[in-house]
Amino acid sequence: MAVAHSSLAPSAAPAEVKLRRETAERAVADLLRALGEDPDGDRLSKTPRRVVETLSEALRRPELPPVSFVDHSGSRELVEVSGIPFRSICEHHLLPFHGVAHVGYLPDGRLVGVSLPVRVVEHFASGLQIQERMTDEIADWLFQNLHPRGVGVVVEAEHLCMSFRGIGDRATSLRTRAFRGDLRTLESSQSRGTEEDPCQRAP
Ligand code: ZN
Repeated sequence: MAVAHSSLAPSAAPAEVKLRRETAERAVADLLRALGEDPDGDRLSKTPRRVVETLSEALRRPELPPVSFVDHSGSRELVEVSGIPFRSICEHHLLPFHGVAHVGYLPDGRLVGVSLPVRVVEHFASGLQIQERMTDEIADWLFQNLHPRGVGVVVEAEHLCMSFRGIGDRATSLRTRAFRGDLRTLESSQSRGTEEDPCQRAP
């Protein structure tokens, strides 16, 4: 396993989110009212603003990094960047799911810095997501932009839409995998497991 060191530029400024703050705050207040709560009382008067602030922060999508190869020494050994933490919001329930992504690629002679996979994970984890699509998008982007011989992405995440609900007899974490190119053979040799998406099963 080889690990390349990064000389990539620092993260670009987050992409601008089209946010209609007042409309969003009114909608949260309406939701609270519809749920039988009083958004005009002391207790909840600041909640709509806080919810919109938190959601807009979480949905902001950082730009994808420019591809810059930092090593042209001809390396063809598997490069792994493991345990990349991420957090995202499930588009089915508007609740967070969070975990780690493990990214590996088989270079065709050129290596990128370690920060590149980290930033690719951050990009595709942001916004409203589902874990399977996020895993595929990370693998597709790396395969198309790094021109490696193969890419493997494994994502492990806990889904709060299940764990918050206290459904103790069901799994609340999920592992998804996506393999491209020469690493695709791994996909057939490793079962996708018995895991089902706990979020999909949540009503
Ligand atoms: Zn969910």
